[in-house]
Amino acid sequence: MTELVFRDDAYTRSCAARVTGADERGIRLDRTVFYPTGGGQPGDTGILRLASGAAIAIVDAVKGELPDEVIHVAAPGSALPEPGTELVAELDWEGRHRLLRVHTCLHLLCAVVPGAVTGGQVSDGRGRLDFDVPGSSLDKEAIAARLNALIAAGHPVAPRWITDEELSSRPELVRTMSVKPPSGAGRVRVMEIPGVDLQPCGGTHIRNTAEIGPVTIAKIENKGRQNRRINVVFL
Ligand SMILES: [Zn+2]
Repeated sequence: MTELVFRDDAYTRSCAARVTGADERGIRLDRTVFYPTGGGQPGDTGILRLASGAAIAIVDAVKGELPDEVIHVAAPGSALPEPGTELVAELDWEGRHRLLRVHTCLHLLCAVVPGAVTGGQVSDGRGRLDFDVPGSSLDKEAIAARLNALIAAGHPVAPRWITDEELSSRPELVRTMSVKPPSGAGRVRVMEIPGVDLQPCGGTHIRNTAEIGPVTIAKIENKGRQNRRINVVFL
């Protein structure tokens, strides 16, 4: 198990950690600020800084076999640290911050567009969600205007935990058909923008919607009979 520092605070840029394992897949730590690829959000990049001053470039982070296990993928040719090595895990903060903004913006898009979400992807400076809705119902300019109004309103964004029972009694909280929230652990992490959006999400978010900044809808694509892909980009 890895202590997931980003889960409680997505703004922590670095943390002290100890190597628990290293192999051809990557490096495991006892705690980390690196978000592993999942839920349509790419894994973080950054460096692992050793006491000697040497740094190992991390080019990706992915989930391991165990729950909450993060594998830090080192740049090809990197010398792997021995288990027990103390180091500091440091994010590429600029890149992470852009992902926080895009990811949180997609929650707002969920609030603007009714209909089930069938897929999505967070990328650097852009993101998209697929909605199961008839195509003619979507107006690009109207969606952009409502999205920018929610952003500018400066709504607070915060994670909290709810019980499995509360989640199963409120199926409307689950907007994404393709990703089932993890249950069975007794509690599920939800992301709340009070009065705007509330849904299970294990990703990373900004603290206030105003931090997203202005966006535009690049295009709305037809991806199947009732599937519409809405592409959001930063201005
Ligand atoms: Zn989220």
